[in-house]
Amino acid sequence: MSTPPPSLTFDLRPTAAPVGADERAALLDNPGFGRIFTDHMVTVRYAEGKGWYDARLEPYGPISLDPATSALHYGQEIFEGLKVYRQPDGGLALFRAEQNAKRFNRSAARLAMAQLPEDLFLESIRVLVTQDAGWVPSAPETSLYLRPFMFATDPFLGVRPALEYLYVLIASPVGAYFPQGVKPVSVWLSTDYTRAAPGGTGEAKCAGNYAASLVAQAQAADRGCDQVVWLDAVEHRWIEEMGGMNLYFVFTEADGTTTLVTPELTGTLLPGITRDTLLTLAADLGLRTEVRRISTDEWRDAVADGRMTEAFACGTAAVITPIGHVKSADGEFAVADGQSGEVTMRLRELMLDIQHGHAEDTHGWMHRL
Ligand SMILES: *Cc1c(COP(=O)(O)O)cnc(C)c1O
Repeated sequence: MSTPPPSLTFDLRPTAAPVGADERAALLDNPGFGRIFTDHMVTVRYAEGKGWYDARLEPYGPISLDPATSALHYGQEIFEGLKVYRQPDGGLALFRAEQNAKRFNRSAARLAMAQLPEDLFLESIRVLVTQDAGWVPSAPETSLYLRPFMFATDPFLGVRPALEYLYVLIASPVGAYFPQGVKPVSVWLSTDYTRAAPGGTGEAKCAGNYAASLVAQAQAADRGCDQVVWLDAVEHRWIEEMGGMNLYFVFTEADGTTTLVTPELTGTLLPGITRDTLLTLAADLGLRTEVRRISTDEWRDAVADGRMTEAFACGTAAVITPIGHVKSADGEFAVADGQSGEVTMRLRELMLDIQHGHAEDTHGWMHRL
């Protein structure tokens, strides 16, 4: 990775008892998503006035916390999600990781938390992945999922931005996010709950947004749907996101022109790096793109009159997931006859090929580790 020298040196304290090669191979054979972790983690501490200090690599394990730790009471916690991809020559690469570093700091700013220098974020990844390189799986569509996160550690019950923070990086070998593979999901249009409101934290990748989403996800499951689709908080009409993923809609005109529409970033959507990547890749494929608001009425009507031919969700964890069925309090309809659409699958393959080193990286998105 071409980064300037790190502002801090990491103290390396590797475990004396790493998981054995055979056991690790068995775990990597069927990793699932987010349930197994590598041998190590990285931690860095921050204190107001002192800055970042005590950067270290240490054995993966429990963190001891004071019961008054302010993140446990007032929720100053942010995180990121990115992947390390095994390349055809056996090497390892990251995809647009500097974008995750920047977004981490935008999330930190929204939650009044300390800024983490981008080089420290990237160096923490280099340190952990160098140590735990043997944990990066190589089967198709597998990767090492990285979870950087930061939370307030002041042992203080007063309500104010904390003065102390802990940054942690852990890593988890992963297969497919949705265990059923690339199978279209059904979605519930949520009008009882909202994810984010104007002026709120919708743009920040923070724990609180997810805590608030779980009851709506449970309601979607009750209605027989795999995922919840969030609508705007004011009119319950404008489509925002699906669970923890951004959305795309594929329109095919009578003359064969294909246009991809993705909801505009209004401040209540999470600005996904996958979303941004697909705007570029769609243009590379000669498809038109539009960034604008799109309503649930338009979704239903455009599917009914045949103009909208596909819809899909995108994000780092689950890559690209087709949407097959849409349900709401008003009824139900199928998109692309409930199948995986052609444009959806073409974009999915192209992005995965770039990430896994099977297609040329013409945009300089990949960073060798
Ligand atoms: C992380 C996330 C996304 C997707 O972002 P990527 O950078 O593409 O992984 C979308 N929506 C929410 C709510 C998220 O937390």
